Amino acid sequence: MSHKYVYLFSEGNGKMRELLGGKGANLAEMTGLGMPVPQGFTISTEACTQYYTDGRQINADIQAQIYDHLAKMEEICGKKFGDPENPLLVSVRSGARASMPGMMDTILNLGLNDTVVKGLAAFTNNPRFAYDSYRRFIQMFSDVVMEQPKSEFEKIIDAKKAEKGVKLDTELDADDMMDLVCRFKTLYKQQKGEDFPTDPKVQLMEAVKAVFRSWDNPRANVYRRMNEIPYDWGTAVNVQSMVFGNSGNTSGTGVAFTRNPATGEKKLFGEYLINAQGEDVVAGIRTPQPIADLEKQMPEVYKQFASIANTLEQHYQDMQDMEFTIENGKLYMLQTRNGKRTAAAALKIAVDLVDEGMISEEEAVLRVDPKQLDALLHPQFDAAALKKAQAIGKGLAASPGAACGKVVFTAEDAKAWAANGEKVVLVRLETSPEDIEGMAAAEGILTVRGGMTSHAAVVARGMGTCCVSGCGEINVDYDAKLFTLAGRTIHEGDYISIDGSTGNIYGEAIPTVEASISGDFERFMKWADDARRLDVYTNADTPRDAAQAKKFGAEGIGLCRTEHMFFEGDRIKAVREMIVAKDLETRKKALAKLLPYQQGDFEALFRVMEEHPVVIRFLDPPLHEFLPTKEEDIKEIAGELDISVAELKEVISNLHEFNPMLGHRGCRLAVSYPEIAEMQTTAVITAAIHVMQEKNIQIRPEIMIPLVGEVKELQYVKKIVTTTADKLIADAGVTMKYEVGTMIEIPRAALMADEVAKEAEFFSFGTNDLTQMTFGFSRDDAGKFLDAYYEKKIFESDPFEHLDQKGVGRLVKLAAKLGRETRPDIHLGICGEHGGDPSSVEFCHNAGLDYVSCSPFRVPIARLAAAQAAIKDSRN
Ligand code: PEP
Ligand code: MG
Repeated sequence: MSHKYVYLFSEGNGKMRELLGGKGANLAEMTGLGMPVPQGFTISTEACTQYYTDGRQINADIQAQIYDHLAKMEEICGKKFGDPENPLLVSVRSGARASMPGMMDTILNLGLNDTVVKGLAAFTNNPRFAYDSYRRFIQMFSDVVMEQPKSEFEKIIDAKKAEKGVKLDTELDADDMMDLVCRFKTLYKQQKGEDFPTDPKVQLMEAVKAVFRSWDNPRANVYRRMNEIPYDWGTAVNVQSMVFGNSGNTSGTGVAFTRNPATGEKKLFGEYLINAQGEDVVAGIRTPQPIADLEKQMPEVYKQFASIANTLEQHYQDMQDMEFTIENGKLYMLQTRNGKRTAAAALKIAVDLVDEGMISEEEAVLRVDPKQLDALLHPQFDAAALKKAQAIGKGLAASPGAACGKVVFTAEDAKAWAANGEKVVLVRLETSPEDIEGMAAAEGILTVRGGMTSHAAVVARGMGTCCVSGCGEINVDYDAKLFTLAGRTIHEGDYISIDGSTGNIYGEAIPTVEASISGDFERFMKWADDARRLDVYTNADTPRDAAQAKKFGAEGIGLCRTEHMFFEGDRIKAVREMIVAKDLETRKKALAKLLPYQQGDFEALFRVMEEHPVVIRFLDPPLHEFLPTKEEDIKEIAGELDISVAELKEVISNLHEFNPMLGHRGCRLAVSYPEIAEMQTTAVITAAIHVMQEKNIQIRPEIMIPLVGEVKELQYVKKIVTTTADKLIADAGVTMKYEVGTMIEIPRAALMADEVAKEAEFFSFGTNDLTQMTFGFSRDDAGKFLDAYYEKKIFESDPFEHLDQKGVGRLVKLAAKLGRETRPDIHLGICGEHGGDPSSVEFCHNAGLDYVSCSPFRVPIARLAAAQAAIKDSRN
């Protein structure tokens, strides 16, 4: 027997999601529960995969199975496809494993043609209904199957209504509907050059193909990428016999949730329309009535529906989103699924279900999507205002939240305008470390260049500031203080709004509302913490960020990027003096000026974090990043440094590198200038001793050497660290333990991890650089060409956002294994941006790391993701 590709609803069940898709599995389950479900069959996701394997064709075997099940369906329903006496009409709907907006949704009334419609009119004694159904079918089929724009058909309806002098579709009579059918068919022929297909079997096969095709449309691909849904899952197709909500005033159709999807309140929530079909509810042409009205209008139907809703919720132990139709006073269930909900509702429902004894705390932890927590921590757009707004462009959703403010083009302006009480959005080609203060002052940051690990993205996430990066369609003219996007010109001072959770850019002001955290949040996070094995640290460079992260539950600092402290106030001057120094003595003098600043910064960090671990990374970026680029700045800074413009220019040109990311940075700086490592060690250890004495607590600083590829590099720098530190500790007469470890961010370090571990007491995977260097993709430029990779299906997602578990992940696992062979108690963590990405956190759990470290606002997300990973792991 050939492989089975098609299943009657009565042959499946709710557990067959992978094969039947969510919709198909639930229709089968409801059938099994004896609920009133119009019967039909599901064409499996495997058939979809086969369709693509066969070069976008439904092969003869699958076609035969479809027709075979159609015959069985005819028998069950007692109606026949294409039979004018008693016609079977069907709906055709897509249904992937995870519900996926963006794909083809629904075709209703399939099976109608000029003969069948006459029979239907006679059979139901309702010609208006029959022709209304027919014109709807032509419209939907043309739109979704033949890709004819819906608007063309809407225009014809509008013209018809104008001719008749009426406003509502319901005011059109049977003759009008008949006339619409004619006009629609004429339009179809004009557009397609052929007649509208009359054979119901041809209509069916075309519709099934359209569903399969829609799996690969651009909208679906974008949605899949955002939600990490694999392409090879495919979609199922559901063919269900029609029931008619548009057959009179005792008929209708509606959608309802067992709880409120916005707030989580436990009360039936939804709406319905009398004498209508599904798309009328969505289209908004007529205003639906709240579900509560149904109780008055059709008490028996309401009672039955409420009882089914309750049964379904109990059965699935989750809030349900249901579609129903009433045909001549009889209720039918068309669909049920776990309802989509806001973050606030997700939390409330999870907690309520535990309190109602329906699910366990562990199960509740699995019910909230970690990414959703963002919405509880950041401001969001006012929902009503957002509905009316139209995006004018889209960049990468680099740091979540919503921002609305006046456009400024420099970090200085951002700071100055904000100081005057203005809300601003900073628009830059890209940002660099010197923009930090302006970035902190802005409501949001919008950049033309740069990916998910660009400076703007990383820093904005750290601050919890909304950021949209890499919107290449923007043309910025800094001199004229304006930018253009989608034909609009936006000047300095104009309002824009950006959404860091979707990447959308709006050329108007959209009010924002503050995030609200309810008491449920803490309770829920406690359950998550009880379940997880991974520790969650934060990447923080300032006491403010560290304190924020601690509030969000961070258990340590996994990465303090010391260079971020180099830009504030006067310190940048000392940094520049160090860079332009011609000899060791001058360099040491400049470093001596920096020392008290660094030490003060570290003391502040230790005070906030107290006995929690703090990992401090030594200077990492290439030195040219600290020097000016613009002519006027060069002049000014040469003056400040008391050297000639020519001298400064020479230093700058000497520091020029063709590939700075592969250049003189990381531990290579300490190899060239050991005095920098010496100064930084002094700052860390002295600060630790001070805070230890001041607070009478144990402090255990961890010093992290970046960008090591060869153990001897680490050995060399470590020697400087230990010599300096041991002397300081001995001189102070205290006992203090400290650790020296490294980042694993160069593939060679991962390959040689057994050797590296001889010197390193801990490894922290710097997966930003490790991804960059494993793929050989510049982390700042990859955004420019990755779209082509998605289109060609070479990549399904951005490897800088979601860890490439196969390739980069293999290096991580290898390094963890080799590291532990040398040093069984080696402490292993990750501090690349992936440390706050749920699927990457799950990988880290499974790879056996000890902790993940991420920006403060992602700490709750990582806690929840770590908990879910542990629960899933324990169930395997
Ligand atoms: C990394 O490379 O993953 C890392 C954390 O370091 P940075 O982003 O500062 O290069
Ligand atoms: Mg790095």
